[in-house]
Amino acid sequence: MSSAGQVIRCKAAVAWEAGKPLSIEEVEVAPPQKDEVRIKILFTALCHTDVYYWECKGYTPLFPRILGHEASGIVESVGEGVTDVKPGDHVLPIFTGECKQCRHCLSEESNNMCDLLRINCDRGVMLADGKTRFSINGKPIYHFVGTSTFSQYTVVHVGQVAKINPTAPLDKVCPISCGICTGFGATVNVAKPKKGQTVAIFGLGAVGLAAAEGARICGASRIIAVDLNPRRFEEAKRFGITEFVNPKDYDKPVQEVIVEMTGGGVDRSVECTGSVQAMISAFECVHDGWGVCVLVGVPKKDDAFKTHPMNLLSERTLKGAFYGNYKPRTDIPMVVDKYLNKELGLDMDKFITHSVPFADINKAFDYMLQGIGLRCMIHLDA
Ligand code: NAD
Ligand code: ZN
Repeated sequence: MSSAGQVIRCKAAVAWEAGKPLSIEEVEVAPPQKDEVRIKILFTALCHTDVYYWECKGYTPLFPRILGHEASGIVESVGEGVTDVKPGDHVLPIFTGECKQCRHCLSEESNNMCDLLRINCDRGVMLADGKTRFSINGKPIYHFVGTSTFSQYTVVHVGQVAKINPTAPLDKVCPISCGICTGFGATVNVAKPKKGQTVAIFGLGAVGLAAAEGARICGASRIIAVDLNPRRFEEAKRFGITEFVNPKDYDKPVQEVIVEMTGGGVDRSVECTGSVQAMISAFECVHDGWGVCVLVGVPKKDDAFKTHPMNLLSERTLKGAFYGNYKPRTDIPMVVDKYLNKELGLDMDKFITHSVPFADINKAFDYMLQGIGLRCMIHLDA
């Protein structure tokens, strides 16, 4: 019997308080309303942004909440007015949307700053009615970035759903919905290193290593990786990185170390840490005259980026990239197809280092906090 139009009861991992382990609860998931889609989530992984909003150190707290935004699943039912997807379609929910109607979505120059569905980490309700679709015994449970994928079923605005090739293995393409596109796109779409150039990557999580893969595929001659966690260097050796720098090993700023190593600075740098200090270093280590730095990490609420204006005047470029500069609904199906046709040059297995059944989701948090592995695939059906 179809569950369309009915409340679905299923398991979800609920964050009740900042920094406390998630608890698996039975939740009620209301049917999708106008322009909404209810998705059966099969796989989800943990990205550092989830951890920031779970810890809430320097971010706005909103609890109880269902976190999660890197995921893959199958459409269960659709609300009024939804024609882009239908039950049974394979999809990736995306944390930032594309309404296809606003000034940004129609612009040739803006890629993913949709006026309606731009990421909003502080909103915990759906746009249609300002209410949640999740509840436990009538108590509302807040959403996260419009995706809330730590639930066997979730409700998402149709503008945050990318319909993908049904032959794509949903576990493998799950990280495309956030980490892979964010890092890879920051390099290939924004930093755009030329063949033979040098690239510095700050932060060697899945996002940074996807950025490093982008540099390798663009033909970078040297890929210099910077991280504070030496454990990350072991993992990163499988990614074509040529040199490793741990800022802790030096008594001078890491940008100076890199400028010396490269005789004036790298041609491109991509920051994937979320540390404002690393953002400044990433900018100050690019070569004057042509160097380009791309910021990707999510800063804290009160962070401020400080550098001497002369660093910009001497023809360095500072950019930021959101979701790898991809248009979520338009570009992602194509990225998945390229992955399937082996045109992307990416081996997703290298990024998926762990997997756990849904009941063990807190292990994925432990791995991320300790910097163990890259993506931990959480199997919602297991
Ligand atoms: P991660 O925790 O797996 O990796 C981050 C790495 O940065 C860690 O290895 C850590 O040791 C390192 N690091 C931290 N501070 C550092 C410093 N000062 N110098 C050098 N290295 C440092 O996280 P992730 O999931 O790969 O995400 C990386 C960042 O990207 C996070 O800030 C995340 O919020 C952000 N992000 C941004 C977007 C976007 O669209 N812009 C999307 C997803 C994630
Ligand atoms: Zn993410």
